[in-house]
Amino acid sequence: KKASLAAEKLLHEFREASATPLPLLHQVSDAMVHEMYAGLSSDGGSDQLKMLPTYVENLPSGKEKGLFYAVDLGGTNFRVLRVQLGGKTGEILSQEFKEVAIPPELMVGTGKDLFDFIAGTLASFVDTEDDSLKSHSGEVRESGFAFSFPVRQTSVKSGIVIHWTKGFKVDDAVGKDIVKQFQDAISRSGHQITISALVNDTVGTLAGGRFNFEEETMIGCIIGTGTNACYVERADTVQKWEHPLPKSGEMVINMEWGNFRSPLLPRTFADEIVDRNSVNPGDQWFEKMISGMYLGEIVRHVLARMAEEAKLFGGYVPVKLLEPLTLGTPQVSKMHADTSPDLQVVAKVLKDVYGVETTTLEERKIVHDVCDIMGERGGRLAAAGLYGILKKIGRTGKAENGSKKKTVIAMDGGLFEHHEPYRTYMESALQELMGSDAAYEVALRLQNDGSGIGAALLAASHSQFT
Ligand code: ADP
Ligand code: MG
Repeated sequence: KKASLAAEKLLHEFREASATPLPLLHQVSDAMVHEMYAGLSSDGGSDQLKMLPTYVENLPSGKEKGLFYAVDLGGTNFRVLRVQLGGKTGEILSQEFKEVAIPPELMVGTGKDLFDFIAGTLASFVDTEDDSLKSHSGEVRESGFAFSFPVRQTSVKSGIVIHWTKGFKVDDAVGKDIVKQFQDAISRSGHQITISALVNDTVGTLAGGRFNFEEETMIGCIIGTGTNACYVERADTVQKWEHPLPKSGEMVINMEWGNFRSPLLPRTFADEIVDRNSVNPGDQWFEKMISGMYLGEIVRHVLARMAEEAKLFGGYVPVKLLEPLTLGTPQVSKMHADTSPDLQVVAKVLKDVYGVETTTLEERKIVHDVCDIMGERGGRLAAAGLYGILKKIGRTGKAENGSKKKTVIAMDGGLFEHHEPYRTYMESALQELMGSDAAYEVALRLQNDGSGIGAALLAASHSQFT
């Protein structure tokens, strides 16, 4: 039995609405550059990109030494880490981490409850420290804090929460110093741990990239539950910076690019529903189109509409398919990566998740195509954003004499790491945008667990005791 013409027609419409041809990607990246300039000119200069100065003027040199901790509060999971840095050798001698899920009620509760939980987890992790490590530092432990929500930093170790994203909504913590709230909770736990650096997770990723890869690492970008990017800017071009210029002449800027919302972005009916049903309607359009928290949900809305309006599964509409958040992004990436000729993985996911017992190959192809269209759009839009940054820092254009210079982009996040077709689309779109005769060779490098290790590295380079 052929999939219904109606389903094919919906698929076609959806494909058109999501299209990202190269000229559009160039326009999107130009719009990104435009907003970057606006955001750097004054506070609120762009109503999309905050372009936050991070107070990080020096990235790790590789000479950092000693025992440091980090706490990484990202989306749904958070990690505590311990690293021992080797000093002159530029090595991480040992690292351990523990990953804990944030109980859902704490994501929408009070700052005190959230930070007591986080401080408690850090404290019990510190208590598991091996005796051999204890001699490296005194009583007080130092920790970096990777915090992946918009913060207006007031120094390298203080900052005000602007608002929450990614399903968090801890209202009483907004407008207050996040480090003080954390530090107070640590005091309540009875431990001596000092937070030496407050680090956006993208900045941690950038710092880790510098430490591991090379000096030409200029951008840190995360595509996980949410998405964001930071980059190394020339400090004298940051018009809104009112302090003395840093000696290095450089300033890491946290873009908060998830809130980019150019009218050029190819949005579909599913994006509109997802936006409307989110905790922050109207905000974070870019994030909602490219990151892991939303990809599964977008695909679900498309499949639900196809099942209801076009009898995608022969008229069967699984009740669960109409329920929010029933299709995870990992399942979408699994179906997308299915290369079996009869799309067995797609069949299995549809059966396991939605109880769809039988499907035709044509139906499975449609489902696969929906996943493909969304993965392609996400990867290509992410590439356009990165190309905008490269343009802003003068690392695009044609090679003069054939000799290419290098730029490294440190990447992290579960979607980038695990969703292979997405990553492939992203990489090839970036090469397309750069052009075959580009002056720079751009490499996307996975800086695994970059935010946490980077936060520990920045705690080390901003240590109060050495
Ligand atoms: P966070 O962004 O919360 O700090 P991660 O960087 O680990 O955490 O990203 C987790 C997100 O990555 C999940 O919400 C999910 O959307 C996405 N993800 C995890 N595994 C996969 C996978 N196999 N395929 C696609 N996306 C994945
Ligand atoms: Mg993270």
